[in-house]
Amino acid sequence: MGLDHEQLYAAVARRDHSFDGAFVFAVRTTSVFCRPGCAARTPRRDNVLFFADASAAQSAGFRACRRCRPLEAPGVAPDWVRGLFVQIERTGAPLTARQMRAAGVHPARASRWFQEHMGMSFRAFQHSLRLGASIDALRAGASVGDAAAAARFESESGFRDAFERALGHAPSRLPANARSVRLARLTTALGDVLLGACDEGVCLLEFLDRDTLPGQLAALRKVLGPALRLGDHPLLARAAAQVQSYFAGELREFDLPLLAPGTDFEQRVWAELRRIPYGRTLSYAQLATHIGRPTATRAVAGANSRNRIAVIIPCHRVIAADGGLGGYAGSVWRKERLLELEGAR
Ligand SMILES: [Zn+2]
Repeated sequence: MGLDHEQLYAAVARRDHSFDGAFVFAVRTTSVFCRPGCAARTPRRDNVLFFADASAAQSAGFRACRRCRPLEAPGVAPDWVRGLFVQIERTGAPLTARQMRAAGVHPARASRWFQEHMGMSFRAFQHSLRLGASIDALRAGASVGDAAAAARFESESGFRDAFERALGHAPSRLPANARSVRLARLTTALGDVLLGACDEGVCLLEFLDRDTLPGQLAALRKVLGPALRLGDHPLLARAAAQVQSYFAGELREFDLPLLAPGTDFEQRVWAELRRIPYGRTLSYAQLATHIGRPTATRAVAGANSRNRIAVIIPCHRVIAADGGLGGYAGSVWRKERLLELEGAR
């Protein structure tokens, strides 16, 4: 990583999840080792040892923390969360509390996980899915009553109220551009990602363990509407296949329509990012010069960090002027691995 122990300890002291996967630290007094982002109490500097990975810490006689589970692949959603996604995708509809309990998932646990990772409770997430299911039914020509039933609303009047509250118009007056954002959870070599698309283009690719994901989702819902659905969209399937080929080292250029609403400045930065070839890097200052705003380095870095379509809009190809990695909203270790994959380091 090219970081000294003081920088590693600083990451531990601020519980920096962006270093999870980059190294582990062990505590002499407890014989336990942790990820940098572990929520346990910060140990004293003189009790801490650093290791490149979990197996090195194990060989040195330390045991894995039960809280941050450093032996598990970083950034992978727990099995029960994957199960929920699969089940919702299969049934095409939100799950009832009874279905969740039958699958062994306590609704309160689901709520906590979704709040933490997606910035909304599971109940709110399910509500968004119901709106999505109803919009798709209406677009396919269903009556309001049938759309309410498709989205598992108990009464048509309850559906009308909820729909109007969320979308600002009655279900019978669906605008031509009414849409639901389709989401899919994918497992990649660098952890789980959430991929999003609607008819106009791919609008989201973000790692599921990122602190930035809730903000990204909130921004998208503000611009594209609150209705969500899981899976079952041709563009989503095409994007998922390209993302997997990219991680397998077989695809260098994505061929996908993108939908990335933002300010004019953000649009210019994101368009310029897409012009950086595979395996090449630019500094923030060079990027600022390319868009004709040489003094706007910090603003460029800001727009870079607000990119909602990681990897496809390759913000990981921008590095600090001194050749260091600089920041990366998707975690520094991921940036390093992406650049390694592309042969840029
Ligand atoms: Zn821990």
